[in-house]
Amino acid sequence: MREVLLSEAGFEMPLIRSTLIPDEFRHGFTTRLGGVSAPPFDSLNVGGKWGDRPDHVAENQRRLRIAAGVDRIFFGTQVHGRESTLVPAGATLEEIAAARADAVIGGAPGTAVGVYVADCVPVLIADVRSGACAAVHAGWRGTMAGVLSATLQRMVTELGTRMSDVRVAIGPSIGPCCFEVGPEVVSAVDTAFPAARAAGAVVEPVAGGRLHVDLWTLNRLAAESTGVATDAIDVAGACTSCNPSRFFSYRRDRGMTGQLAAFIVRAREPPSFAA
Ligand SMILES: [Zn+2]
Repeated sequence: MREVLLSEAGFEMPLIRSTLIPDEFRHGFTTRLGGVSAPPFDSLNVGGKWGDRPDHVAENQRRLRIAAGVDRIFFGTQVHGRESTLVPAGATLEEIAAARADAVIGGAPGTAVGVYVADCVPVLIADVRSGACAAVHAGWRGTMAGVLSATLQRMVTELGTRMSDVRVAIGPSIGPCCFEVGPEVVSAVDTAFPAARAAGAVVEPVAGGRLHVDLWTLNRLAAESTGVATDAIDVAGACTSCNPSRFFSYRRDRGMTGQLAAFIVRAREPPSFAA
């Protein structure tokens, strides 16, 4: 991963991009920087969910579309499950927004897909051969439910994706440093991911206390178990909760916070900014 600074039409927006995903896919994970919202939503709050001014959110979303080089980005209604929605030709934003889906899959060039997060794990998928792509929202519930594997498998069955052509980018989210959980979550991890402990995804905190869970490693395990090569998986390794100047965090800010976004689109034309 690396951070690029997008400078467009009067604003600057940092974006975290995967170095494994080729340039013809415009994609990125936003930070909280580069928008117009006032505290506590400052400044690039792209989700209208928690009380920000609608005109500010609209301007932030406009900037997001400029970053993606498109005039619309498809988002579903995220419910912490494993369902995905595949954007058909001619779909409207409203149709896709009505789908209860934690992953949005775009099959055709120019179809931009995204997810909103504020601690949950955003995952971007690119099929470098066909140009298909997907954005996945994987909080701990979605991670346990297998949303990443289910999305990859749907790309195989419905779009003919081959796992050898897939690149996976796991973006900023609450990290193993901060994701303290109760015994019910640890037991769900052990059930869903028998390899979790061997992979170090259940962590004993240095100072004692409750266990921490590493959602980045769990999603990496999920991608690997579906057939994605280890060296085709990119992990940002940035914790939203630890970095208040860079990221919104629902847990840290007790719900008074904004939403980050992740988006991806196989461009019809090459990107206009340096990758
Ligand atoms: Zn942290």
